[in-house]
Amino acid sequence: MTASVSIRNATKTFGDFTALDDVSLEIAAGEFIVLLGPSGCGKTTLLSLLGGFLSPTRGVIEINGRDMGSVAPSKRPTTTMFQDYALFPHMTLRDNVAFGLKMRKVGKAERHARAEELLEMVGLKASASKKPHELSGGQRQRVALARALAVEPDVLLLDEPLGALDLKLRRQMQDELKAIQKRVGTTFVHVTHDQEEAMAIADRIVVMNSGKIEDVGRPEEIYMRPKTVFSASFMGEVNFIPGTVDAKTDNGIHINTVLGAVKLPETALADPAISAGQKITLAIRPEHFRASTGAGPRIMLGAAKVEDGSFFGTHHRAHLSPADYPNMTITAHMPQSAMIEPGAWIDLTIDPSSVVILPGHATPARP
Ligand code: ATP
Repeated sequence: MTASVSIRNATKTFGDFTALDDVSLEIAAGEFIVLLGPSGCGKTTLLSLLGGFLSPTRGVIEINGRDMGSVAPSKRPTTTMFQDYALFPHMTLRDNVAFGLKMRKVGKAERHARAEELLEMVGLKASASKKPHELSGGQRQRVALARALAVEPDVLLLDEPLGALDLKLRRQMQDELKAIQKRVGTTFVHVTHDQEEAMAIADRIVVMNSGKIEDVGRPEEIYMRPKTVFSASFMGEVNFIPGTVDAKTDNGIHINTVLGAVKLPETALADPAISAGQKITLAIRPEHFRASTGAGPRIMLGAAKVEDGSFFGTHHRAHLSPADYPNMTITAHMPQSAMIEPGAWIDLTIDPSSVVILPGHATPARP
């Protein structure tokens, strides 16, 4: 059971506050979509529009091409799984999972068989006769997932479902959730503010900020080729170097930055409309700096002084202050073999294909 979802120009206001501002998104049937963003950006509001618990002030929600405008939550092909996955304490796991089927008048034998099938899928078949209080947090979470899937929704809406779990269990459940989603093929729309979780589970991530969609793409696209300063900074550590486009020519984009002039390939532009004279920000992940010229194409960003460094096994993590702009702190991952001593000078180089030119200025990144 699966369905496509189409959100077109959805706006939701509460009084004069706009929680969602003209949001459009197309979700393919069977996709695992993660809505990612800071607290208050509108993730839950968007999920509630899909589930029908809120109506859009403007805009259209379609599921499998059908307008949901006048369809009540219980009549939608959606199920919502909340963070506090309230299981019925007095019921066995089997009865908890079968509950939605009972409401739909499915016979006892059939609903129990279906419940056991789902409990087997989440690894809890042997515990079918237990009560929720006999389970760990992670096990309860799995029962809630089995219960949500029992009614065979076309679209499962998950609001921070792993939020109550400790970090280790959370990482483990992320892998399980992804595997189960692929197995059942149901469209999942999952809300989180944890970028690692988003990267671990999503087919595509939707980065939200202040009621708007900032960026949409596969995890590696959002990490490697973010579209905005906000998206770049939300998806992991990044250095921002402010600059201005000097010229766009056939042999590259010429940019003046506070660390000197650089020439980058056209593919570095986050938006092809970025033009000469425009303020931009270069986004560079820490692992894209190199301490020396090395092999392959490189661009120089001048000399930098090591402020401090820590050894992480696979690399050193160093804080550097560029000679041309000592107020800026750059965080760079340097090779294992690099000599990272406070006070040492190194030549900062980067592979031009790893740099992204973002529109607008950001404040310099601080570690
Ligand atoms: P969190 O991660 O904290 O759950 P979120 O991204 O899910 O945040 P929403 O719950 O969608 O955010 O809320 C978006 C904004 O809309 C918030 O500023 C919130 O205060 C506001 N908001 C949500 N529901 C209502 C409501 N019923 N009345 C007024 N304001 C609301």
